[in-house]
Amino acid sequence: SLSDRITGSFKQLRGKGRLSEADVDGTIREIRRALLEADVALPVVRQFTASVREKSVSALSSQALNPAQQVIKIVNDELVEVLGGDTRELNFASRPPTVIMLAGLQGAGKTTLAGKLGLWLREQDNKVLLVASDLQRPNAVNQLQIVGERAGVDVWAPEPGNGVGDPVQVARSGVEHGRQNHYNVVIVDTAGRLGVDEEMMEQARNIRDAVNPNETLFVLDAMIGQDAVQTSIAFRDGVGFTGVVLSKLDGDARGGAALSVRGVTGVPVLFASTGEKLEDFERFHADRMASRILDMGDVLTLIEQAQKAYDEKEAEDLAEKMAEGTFTLNDFLAQLQQVRKMGSMKKMLGMMPGMGQFRDQLENFDEREIDRVEAIIRSMTPQERRDPKILNGSRRLRIAKGSGSTVQEVNSLMDRFEKAKTMMQHMSKTGGGAPGMGSLP
Ligand code: GDP
Ligand code: MG
Repeated sequence: SLSDRITGSFKQLRGKGRLSEADVDGTIREIRRALLEADVALPVVRQFTASVREKSVSALSSQALNPAQQVIKIVNDELVEVLGGDTRELNFASRPPTVIMLAGLQGAGKTTLAGKLGLWLREQDNKVLLVASDLQRPNAVNQLQIVGERAGVDVWAPEPGNGVGDPVQVARSGVEHGRQNHYNVVIVDTAGRLGVDEEMMEQARNIRDAVNPNETLFVLDAMIGQDAVQTSIAFRDGVGFTGVVLSKLDGDARGGAALSVRGVTGVPVLFASTGEKLEDFERFHADRMASRILDMGDVLTLIEQAQKAYDEKEAEDLAEKMAEGTFTLNDFLAQLQQVRKMGSMKKMLGMMPGMGQFRDQLENFDEREIDRVEAIIRSMTPQERRDPKILNGSRRLRIAKGSGSTVQEVNSLMDRFEKAKTMMQHMSKTGGGAPGMGSLP
């Protein structure tokens, strides 16, 4: 992967006390190869490596204390710059509704994004309307209705009178409906093809001209590989867009597409989609993406997700209980549910620093383990959960039967719980670690 390669060449640099220009060139070659393999567009790679080389060589001549560290910083800063620096806000219309049009290939994640963005905006007190202007696929309207329902936002679907069979007319009537009914934001979902074609572009252009969007968001599947550049250029020239949303960033693709699309079109990436659920959505942060590419772990995103899932009060209570050693199985259960809320375990661990090398092991991590643990705790009485010391042989047998597990599994859970409790007590005394991290089963 891109990050492994860059990390690998860094390791070589780290091993040396002093660096020569030839060392820097060796690393630049590695980075170049890695970027190309990660499907970053050639012009972007050229510009990137040239700039990194220039800055690195001048860092060498400045006799810096730790040149390798400096090169790492230079690469990181350059990645942040190419990725677009600070994220800008969405452009809102001075007079509502703000119209956001979605464009992109079929399967890129437009309809899913309509729901994610709808939910995100609704949570910020916007009244949101989704407009179903994809009439290409038989199920597309229905899919948007389901997504809208999940997001808790309204959906404008084609019906007799508002443009059955005519996506442009549906878009126009949808925005008009939004205006008359005081929606703040109208999100127009559009059709895509598997490949770029002129008919689709024309339809998108016609919708654009009919609704005059404040933002046209180009949704790009981060897994698309080398086609990212060509597709981005086709949409830039065919419809034009003001922002990019990278979808499927939860997969293996770790930045190639992000670098390419921003590097080639100059249009900023505004959001990142990281899963199939509506909550798997966040602002795009160039600095975090750069770190992620460098395999340093997306710690900030992790913390943000954790904060979202945690009720702050609950977290405080937990911290107190940990410190006092009064953490019970009930708390443990509540914590497991928080962990589940935070999203898939694998995804979470994958974002932690240094976990890149454990990716294979993560593949074997069984999330059903949480289900098992939950079943066992749920089979205990409230008294047992508060005071596990009373768990004698017959109680353990009853719990095992009740939860469909074995006595050994119950015993093993209790052992791990005691260990976790001790560890957390220790952690909270030394002040390290977020609540919850120490008790994964
Ligand atoms: P559209 O054709 O552009 O409207 O794409 P859809 O929104 O219908 O998405 C196509 C498929 O990709 C669906 O199965 C989605 O669940 C899935 N999908 C969308 N966004 C993401 C994402 O960020 N991560 C993952 N893993 N799947 C996604
Ligand atoms: Mg769709």
